[in-house]
Amino acid sequence: MKTDLPITDLFTGGKPLRSVEFFPPKDDDGWKQFSRTAERIASIKPDFVSITYGAGGSTRDRTDQAARILREEMGFLVMPHLTCAGSGQAEVLEVAKHFHECGFRNIMSLRGDPPKGETSFQPRDGLRYGSDLIRLLRSSMPDLCLGAGGYPEKHPEAPDMETDIRNLLEKVEAGADFITTQLFFDNAYYFRFVERCRAAGIDIPILPGIMPVLSYKQIQRFTDMCGASLPESLKSKLAAVQDSPDDVQKVGVQWAADQIEELLKAGAPGYHLYILNRANATLALVEALGGKTE
Ligand SMILES: Cc1cc2nc3c(=O)[nH]c(=O)nc-3n(C[C@H](O)[C@H](O)[C@H](O)COP(=O)(O)OP(=O)(O)OC[C@H]3O[C@@H](n4cnc5c(N)ncnc54)[C@H](O)[C@@H]3O)c2cc1C
Repeated sequence: MKTDLPITDLFTGGKPLRSVEFFPPKDDDGWKQFSRTAERIASIKPDFVSITYGAGGSTRDRTDQAARILREEMGFLVMPHLTCAGSGQAEVLEVAKHFHECGFRNIMSLRGDPPKGETSFQPRDGLRYGSDLIRLLRSSMPDLCLGAGGYPEKHPEAPDMETDIRNLLEKVEAGADFITTQLFFDNAYYFRFVERCRAAGIDIPILPGIMPVLSYKQIQRFTDMCGASLPESLKSKLAAVQDSPDDVQKVGVQWAADQIEELLKAGAPGYHLYILNRANATLALVEALGGKTE
């Protein structure tokens, strides 16, 4: 059985990383689209791909299935996500051990959000924060490479940025190897975030999360959900073409390309793409970037 490389090794290669995030589909049509998208995404040679995990383990089997398709059929380096929302220690360890036995060595480790209908996070079995999950995984499987989430505009529940960064430091001290950020549309948030992290003693790589806007309505729902803000200039560009899905996508792709170009020039270690299981915008984005990210 093949054992994966830890993603931390990729950060030292001197070349910006490109990673792509998928989510596990719900039905047959979704699985067909998932496989088609994954095949097309292979053409842009991501350094690694990740696959999300649903609240309360709701996607547990589908995350596993998707991770195995991406790894075994498509040959990607795959980082499954794992959350402790609604799960105790035994369950998260069982999932992580299963991935470990299958040869996975990278896990994005998150607290997760409360399940639908619940407003506050109910910890189980001592797993209250992302740092608790990271500590548990680090002590049980020391050879895992663990990713953690970071929030350039602050996690929505945190009272202020300073507190949120202190809590992020706790995840690093618990054993996180790198940080992938929540999506953002204004690079100034990322630059300030990295500066504050470094000042607080967080010295692991911080991979910026970028999402090319695919639809006007969807982006408003998304930004409400995750607390990312839409700059006024992007909002007005999107509003001007909102009735034309193709033009909305063109605006979204160009905005994301400009963000990535600026991030890489400023020394970001690469970029993580939230693609929502769609390939068109991602391929257009990579084309718009030309060779600028190689
Ligand atoms: C890259 C990325 C991938 C994601 N993938 C998924 C996914 O696959 N599935 C999914 O369900 N969700 C996913 N999410 C969303 C994530 O689960 C939510 O944002 C969740 O609310 C926070 O998870 P966390 O591990 O970052 O939380 P934590 O680090 O636990 O932080 C949550 C809140 O608690 C606070 N906090 C942390 N530690 C302490 C402490 N010791 N004392 C007091 N307060 C503290 C923080 O400041 C923050 O406000 C992802 C997010 C990111 C950035």
